[in-house]
Amino acid sequence: MSYAAPAKVKWICLPPRACESALIDLEVFKAGASRSFTVGGEMNAHDEIKQKMIMAGKILVAEGQDDFTRGHISFRLPDNPGLFFMKAHSIGLDEITMENILTIDLEGNVVAGKAKRHSEVYIHSEIFKARPDLNCVLHTHPTYATAFSAAGRPMRAYSQPAALFYNAIGTYTDTINLIRDHDMGHGVAKALGAHRTVLLKNHGAVVCGVSIEETIISVIMLENAAQIQMIVEAAGNPAPEFPIEDVMKLQHDISRPEQFVVNFDYLARRVKRREG
Ligand SMILES: [Zn+2]
Repeated sequence: MSYAAPAKVKWICLPPRACESALIDLEVFKAGASRSFTVGGEMNAHDEIKQKMIMAGKILVAEGQDDFTRGHISFRLPDNPGLFFMKAHSIGLDEITMENILTIDLEGNVVAGKAKRHSEVYIHSEIFKARPDLNCVLHTHPTYATAFSAAGRPMRAYSQPAALFYNAIGTYTDTINLIRDHDMGHGVAKALGAHRTVLLKNHGAVVCGVSIEETIISVIMLENAAQIQMIVEAAGNPAPEFPIEDVMKLQHDISRPEQFVVNFDYLARRVKRREG
């Protein structure tokens, strides 16, 4: 096939045999990525992803999702689905830089970058292996979501954010320990199933998405939903939920990719304002 690359697409520099798959990957990526992905822009796609990971980390800290240097985010390379970018070990989520982001393969091996790799890389690699439809994986220890995971209760539709997770959360119950090998990572991916969120019991949350925006906004909504449900359950005697059709309509409406982008962009502007 012949393929004329658009001007300034720096990362499509593959041999002819690879062009077809690269083009497909580009189309898949464009379909799921935010509107800020600009094929004709000055910044190349990899740098743009890294910049968004940097902002995602700052947003997560601003939202109280940090836990010392724990927590990690990754994003699959659009031109090579067998590789992903990932935050490094020993730094906070708000300390991600263009230089310390690692490139890792689906076996968890670092293929580029000098920083230390998180031992829980297998959460990411095994989910990316199992779910070719997902591009972003995030693991944090949000306070209410972690407490909610310990309660072992299903997510109820007691709030609007909760509707996003209604009948849409897996739970990993094999261990409270870190996910430090392929088998454990596979177990997390299995518990995730067809969902985009899995609670690690007594540990934290793993939230995935097609885009960074979806993933970040989802984990913030998860924490909000868990907090509200715990307040409702602590108060006792909650009134019946709305009918499932009503809840599922809301789930559909708040799952729109553009809505995640609008909310992510707002939080990014807020971070920048606070930075001065
Ligand atoms: Zn953890």
